[in-house]
Amino acid sequence: MSKVYTRDYWETVLSALTPEGRHFINGKLRAAVTGETFTRARPMDGKPGATVARGGAVDIDAAVKSARTAFESGVWRRKEPLEKKKIMLNWADLIRAHGEELAMLETLDVGKPIMASLNVDVRLCADGIQFYGEMIDKLYDEIAPTGPYARALVRKVPLGVIGVITPWNYPMIIDAWKLGPAIAAGNSVVLKPAEQSSLTAIRLASLAVEAGLPAGVFNVVTGYGEETGKPLALHMDVDMIAFTGSTEVGKLIMGYAAQSNVKRVALELGGKSPLVVFEDADLDAAASAVAWGCFYNSGETCHASTRLIVHRSVQDALIAKIEAVTKSDIALRHPLDPTAQIGALIEEAHLEKVLSLVAVGEKEGARRAFGAERVMTETGGFYVSPGLFVDMTNDMSLARQEIFGPVLAAIAFETEEEALRIANDTIYGLAGAVFTKDIDRAHRFSEAIHAGTVWINTYDMSNFATPFGGFKQSGFGRDRSVHAIDKYCDYKTIWQQFG
Ligand code: NAD
Repeated sequence: MSKVYTRDYWETVLSALTPEGRHFINGKLRAAVTGETFTRARPMDGKPGATVARGGAVDIDAAVKSARTAFESGVWRRKEPLEKKKIMLNWADLIRAHGEELAMLETLDVGKPIMASLNVDVRLCADGIQFYGEMIDKLYDEIAPTGPYARALVRKVPLGVIGVITPWNYPMIIDAWKLGPAIAAGNSVVLKPAEQSSLTAIRLASLAVEAGLPAGVFNVVTGYGEETGKPLALHMDVDMIAFTGSTEVGKLIMGYAAQSNVKRVALELGGKSPLVVFEDADLDAAASAVAWGCFYNSGETCHASTRLIVHRSVQDALIAKIEAVTKSDIALRHPLDPTAQIGALIEEAHLEKVLSLVAVGEKEGARRAFGAERVMTETGGFYVSPGLFVDMTNDMSLARQEIFGPVLAAIAFETEEEALRIANDTIYGLAGAVFTKDIDRAHRFSEAIHAGTVWINTYDMSNFATPFGGFKQSGFGRDRSVHAIDKYCDYKTIWQQFG
């Protein structure tokens, strides 16, 4: 029988929890060299959150040395593949076994509903580590075609030390998307989580060592972007930065790579994804996909369906359905309430940014159909209701800027050409969707939308077998799937001449 979770149960889990906020370097918890720490307000209620080490260049240096030493010693990369696989699978099992604790740490940091943290974030994190663990003993190298007097081996080799810099919206999932392939390929990692979401990264590292991962293979240094992320990206002994975050910071990361040692860079950046609904679409299915696609995780999702591009003839009917679905299905509640579907925004400054973008949108002529207001002020914390704006054109700021909150912009169209032009009129290219019963149009349109993922008659469905990432200013390099491992490897040719 599956466990029944109640608010009281989660309150008890919370009161028993002592979050660990120190760095994790060379298999050990460590305070920052300066002894400095920082705290943030908890998104769920605005109370002070955990105390976290405020890392700087010296801490990064220590972590990179630990990662380099582990890499050069071969303690991980030279292990038998089967042995490595067992360790990764143990790690995935430990993540599942500590699921409630990890879920609570994630919810404390980022304010998402505890049941989403448990059933989505913890689950996908463990599944991600398992997926790449299982690949370890199935990776073959190649022999290139040559004449009969030579043999050329094409070996796939790990890069060395990978710096991973992550955002706060899905910390555990994004960590797994990068740690899984990077570590499975034989590299060592230094992870710098977002300053808003340090706790699960530290716990994932201690669980990795408990699972048998040698000390130094996976290190965590917590701290702010400029103080901790920048020295990691500029470090001369880091071979690659795998980054997920804003396009603005992604551009800085490319610059740091160029200014230092020409390290490789993989960037998963922002989005402003279009969801196009034609007049023949199943409007109930479309309404549900739009609402969940845009409002899940309070809109703090890089591939959220933030631009609804809808045929004018069905616009009013669809918007009425979206409002109904949002109000009946997407419960905005305190994150420890097991019935909450969405919770708090990450922090007060972000909430203010979301509301100020809404105010600009209204000044430009966007009309509020519903929501997009600050709510639940009595609980403390940072809550905004899901909201939708109509009478919009694609040049308005609500349609152009990544808001990263529960705010949907609806834009009407008359012809297929116009819909496609609007869909592709963005600097981003992360995701998109088309709703129509016309199969030819569905395929024509999904080919023509310039984005890394396009859904037909659904939104946000995926599994680990499918690559995820962006075109245009949404970045390059892919997370997930067997292909993700390639970016953490290099090809090495070994040519042997006979006789
Ligand atoms: P952000 O760019 O502000 O921060 C991301 C990370 O970069 C954090 O760890 C931060 O500390 C660090 N950072 C900030 N300044 C830095 C600097 N100068 N040098 C080095 N590191 C620095 O992004 P965020 O606010 O944490 O996350 C939201 C953004 O992430 C959104 O734009 C969203 O679309 C994007 N995102 C993209 C994906 C994807 O897969 N494409 C997934 C999730 C989030």
